[in-house]
Amino acid sequence: MALIAAFPEQAVPHRLMILGAVCAMVPDFDVIGFRFGIHYADLLGHRGLTHSIAFAAVLASLALFAASSAVSSSKNRGLVWLYLFLATTSHGLLDAMTDGGLGVAFFSPLDRTRYFFSFTPIAVSPIGARFFSARGLSVMLCELRWVWLPSIAFEAVAFTIRRLYANIRSV
Ligand SMILES: [Zn+2]
Repeated sequence: MALIAAFPEQAVPHRLMILGAVCAMVPDFDVIGFRFGIHYADLLGHRGLTHSIAFAAVLASLALFAASSAVSSSKNRGLVWLYLFLATTSHGLLDAMTDGGLGVAFFSPLDRTRYFFSFTPIAVSPIGARFFSARGLSVMLCELRWVWLPSIAFEAVAFTIRRLYANIRSV
């Protein structure tokens, strides 16, 4: 949602932030696979194909198609796609900064290697109902510090830069 502040409203209507947020959540739908015997490290396992760059490109294209009535020109279509792609990719990037589970298969299906960044300050979230526990609360506080506050700071900086740029152009 914070990412949309980097895009001008005329090109990427800010009501699309809801679609961006949905795109950022979709990769974790892969946890359904656990119920069907798909293992964590499998191609379709958790943090596998749905967390890849290729999946983000496909999902952004589908979401752009769904939002086509909100996009006014073909030039803006590229920016909306970029926004939706980055929103989806942000999920895997943040997962790769967590301190548990398996890494993220960024280059799946070509390369199923799982990756973490060397900087992993985010406590990994418990899956399912275990999220509603003392550990879930401590994970939320950790995410507040390492995800929400930096996102709000990013949004504020992006908004300020866009506003300054608009003022300079109008002079
Ligand atoms: Zn994930």
